Amino acid sequence: MQSNVKLSTPCPACGNEKATLEFFQFNIPYFGEVMESVLLCRRCGYRHTDVMVLEQKEPAKYTLVIDSAEDMYIRVIRSSSATIEVPELGIEVTPGSEAQGFVSNVEGVLLRMEEAVRTAQRWAESEAAKKRAKELLREIAEIKAGKRRATLIISDPTGNSAIISEKARKEALGEDSPGE
Ligand SMILES: [Zn+2]
Repeated sequence: MQSNVKLSTPCPACGNEKATLEFFQFNIPYFGEVMESVLLCRRCGYRHTDVMVLEQKEPAKYTLVIDSAEDMYIRVIRSSSATIEVPELGIEVTPGSEAQGFVSNVEGVLLRMEEAVRTAQRWAESEAAKKRAKELLREIAEIKAGKRRATLIISDPTGNSAIISEKARKEALGEDSPGE
């Protein structure tokens, strides 16, 4: 991975004219060139990352059945416009205005979910919610160890996301496809 371009840009959070925007280019086997952008403001700490594929991609939905610990190493590219779901956990990460894009792997996706559940656990007010968070953390740990089957679904109307594995099923995602 190399940094190809670095430039100054205004910070969307505090207006500092000297926030930096850096681009990193990756070549992902069987997928192509991917550009990761990182916007960083040293004044207020604002950080935003995203990914973009450099060739035209079609809107797509990827489905991967996770059933072994080796699956943790499967590459995942998630742009800020993608929705990530693990139906077995009842977790859906939708693209909000603060959504971040990243190049990672299945384990990285599960770690991000784990972090979100831990945050929810800290702020949970009811015992039931705390208990559910604890259960979710145990289930995520079991998935990571390959002891629990789960499905990872990534849908991206811009086509900038992918799960890079022969095990992953790819479907076209129409603009008016159901399940939205
Ligand atoms: Zn700032």
